[in-house]
Amino acid sequence: MNTQGKDLKTSISQLTNDKNLASAALMIIDVQNDFCPGGALPVPEGNKVVPVINSMMDKFNFIVATRDWHPEQTVHFDKWPVHCVRKTRGAAFHPDLDQTKIDKVISKGTGNKDDGYSAFETEELDLSAFLKEKGIGTLYFTGLATEYCVKASALDAAKNGFKTYVILDAIRGIDVNPGDIEKAMKEMSDTGIEFIKAGSP
Ligand SMILES: [Zn+2]
Repeated sequence: MNTQGKDLKTSISQLTNDKNLASAALMIIDVQNDFCPGGALPVPEGNKVVPVINSMMDKFNFIVATRDWHPEQTVHFDKWPVHCVRKTRGAAFHPDLDQTKIDKVISKGTGNKDDGYSAFETEELDLSAFLKEKGIGTLYFTGLATEYCVKASALDAAKNGFKTYVILDAIRGIDVNPGDIEKAMKEMSDTGIEFIKAGSP
């Protein structure tokens, strides 16, 4: 795979023995039914991130999964079709995602005036402080959708001082306007976020 003209030589399997992984967390962003094919706001091939994410779980000591968890009425739905209304089937994690290994579920977008794109916007806890208290300094991002919640979360992670990676074969985007994904990748890269691959599951 080639991004921004750079060959990606690093893969998560090469990092398996890296002692840095001991202080790293796997971040799974919004792998929910509504964002997968058949859902209310489907990301093309959104379901394809699931086996890739499952295959990496054993490498991490700590795994966080976020979920869009909207009220029935929110200004967010002025911009988007109704999706991920809390406690509905559409808001549930994809059934194939291995939830047994998830250490912490974070709900976001829970108010009626916010978009909740970034995991760090959650009102449940101070996510940055929570992770740092656990000795976590590096975050590996996966999930949906590249140019919204993955990007917003990864940018906030970098801003909060985490070494931040995005795992390319474990994300998918929507590209509402063609070029949106590419723009998001550039924005992340310009912020010092690094891209790596999981490799085949
Ligand atoms: Zn949403």
